[in-house]
Amino acid sequence: MNLWNRYYTPHTVEEAFSLLKTHDGAARVVAGGTDLLLEIRQGHRPPVEALVDITRIPELTRITQEGDLVIIGAGVTHTQIIRSELLARRATCLVESCGVIGGPQVRNVGTLGGNVAHALPAADGATSLVALDAEAEILQDGQRRWLPLLELYKGPGKSLLDPTHDLLLHLRFRLCGEGEATAFTRIMRPQGVALPVLGCALWVRMGDDGETIEDARVCIGPVAPVPTRATGVEEELRGRPFTGELLEQAIARAQAELHPRTSKYRATAEYRAEMIGVVLRRALPLAVRRAQTGEATPEGVGLQ
Ligand SMILES: Cc1cc2nc3c(=O)[nH]c(=O)nc-3n(C[C@H](O)[C@H](O)[C@H](O)COP(=O)(O)OP(=O)(O)OC[C@H]3O[C@@H](n4cnc5c(N)ncnc54)[C@H](O)[C@@H]3O)c2cc1C
Repeated sequence: MNLWNRYYTPHTVEEAFSLLKTHDGAARVVAGGTDLLLEIRQGHRPPVEALVDITRIPELTRITQEGDLVIIGAGVTHTQIIRSELLARRATCLVESCGVIGGPQVRNVGTLGGNVAHALPAADGATSLVALDAEAEILQDGQRRWLPLLELYKGPGKSLLDPTHDLLLHLRFRLCGEGEATAFTRIMRPQGVALPVLGCALWVRMGDDGETIEDARVCIGPVAPVPTRATGVEEELRGRPFTGELLEQAIARAQAELHPRTSKYRATAEYRAEMIGVVLRRALPLAVRRAQTGEATPEGVGLQ
């Protein structure tokens, strides 16, 4: 049995879109194929007539800086992200999250766009993009438009994008400036299935005194059908000096607000709720320290 019959490698977005249109639902976008081809091979998804590979389209395989914004093509691989000095310095959490995805083989071909388009609430790259308040550019009904990243998510594995008709083109967000920093951490089972028990990405901006958290964005997951911001925790942190007491209050708020479920592949609900404290104790002081010192060296890349 063939997993597909035709494989196209268009060189422009217009060509990719026109191939999808011509096949009228019988062709599907593929990037690294690390999710899609496994799903087809394992029978979770039927074989497709045609695959439209977007990784030969130059505009989708670049990381570009425009002022304070960075624009990442949907076909940029996790390895490209890990190797970006700009992202290591000014979007450290994204490098940390892409740096723990699979192993080198998966990171060399798997893309940030595929991580988002697959729409799983546990996707590591997406967790950091949420904390970075990213936007996505899509091509739908022949129109390009930007929208907040979270608007793409409609349920576990369900996206606003229909990959037999639509394309995710770019992701963009504001890079960290002075007094701002990010961090990502995750807890994995030591053995067995490669599903995170819990991941956490956060972004902070420190006030002029270097002690007060002026603003924060926090994403901890998976704790819901779609990636979500822990808005209560953000509220708890905003405008208060960073102390051990504040950290414990933020953890208590997160444990009251977030309700991870028991999953036989991840862990029990009780254990995962306890782990909320662990990820926040690791990531929050790290992000604050980075924001205070301007030092941002990604941790854990390629180790998990
Ligand atoms: C061994 C292994 C370990 C893994 N570990 C992790 C992990 O630790 N953390 C993690 O988050 N993920 C992990 N993954 C999952 C996967 O590697 C990532 O989600 C990866 O980023 C998917 O990207 P891709 O380019 O391979 O997507 P693909 O498989 O090519 O595509 C995924 C889905 O998105 C659609 N799609 C892709 N690109 C576009 C686009 N531009 N526009 C519209 N639709 C599109 C496809 O049609 C498909 O439905 C792992 C996978 C494997 C096989």
